[in-house]
Amino acid sequence: MSARAVLWDFDGTLAIRPGHWGACLVEVLDAREPGHGLTRGDLTPLLHTGFPWHEHDQPHPHLSDPDAWWQHIGQTLLGVLTSAKVPAARAADHLRHFRGTYLDPASWSVYPDSAAALALVAAAGWRNVIVSNHAPELSDLVSGLGLGAHVDDVITSARCGYEKPHPAIFDLARRAAGNPNTVWIVGDNPIADIAGAARAGIPGVLVRTSTADQNFVTMLERSYGRDDWQDWRQHCAIAAPTAHAAARYILDAHPNGA
Ligand SMILES: [Mg+2]
Repeated sequence: MSARAVLWDFDGTLAIRPGHWGACLVEVLDAREPGHGLTRGDLTPLLHTGFPWHEHDQPHPHLSDPDAWWQHIGQTLLGVLTSAKVPAARAADHLRHFRGTYLDPASWSVYPDSAAALALVAAAGWRNVIVSNHAPELSDLVSGLGLGAHVDDVITSARCGYEKPHPAIFDLARRAAGNPNTVWIVGDNPIADIAGAARAGIPGVLVRTSTADQNFVTMLERSYGRDDWQDWRQHCAIAAPTAHAAARYILDAHPNGA
């Protein structure tokens, strides 16, 4: 059994869907209602509440069935579209196409170093486990993007009922990795990934993120920065520009398998 593992965030760390949920809504509208006139800029401000990760201190086992999870998301998106003046009946009809559009691997971009980073860790005899606040079908998406070869397991919040930074999802990821003696996390979210894991006893490397970017910090603290996470910066001392650089840092911190 491997005694070491790296936990990986997915979205923004290994791959990204450019424009996120707002862009996907626009794609659906473009396909279904040409000339609708809405932009991602119109919709994104309406997407800051209503997703399970916005209530990350609340377990949601009642959403663990994929259809139940998407029904919950569909209600949130229906509220977004109706707030943007799309008639409710038409919005509901459009949203029947959202799930397939969001999950289409062709709409996702894998960072150029991601596969090499996973391969580097696996070649050193470590396990790779993805732990993400994401959709129920994340495991299929990981495979569809060609990242599955060196991934031992995928823990997605939609199925397990806990959102990072809740400690329970890190416990599940650690268990999925075989309860290794040595475990690290790599992620782009200072609170959900790095501070959350740190409180579960897991050191982390922050990637692809500048905590000097005030727009990012404002978004971060709006989504995750409840009173009890105000100390997140103290957990983010280790940073790397890429996933591959993070993998290299972690392996170098354990020479000769130490
Ligand atoms: Mg992320």
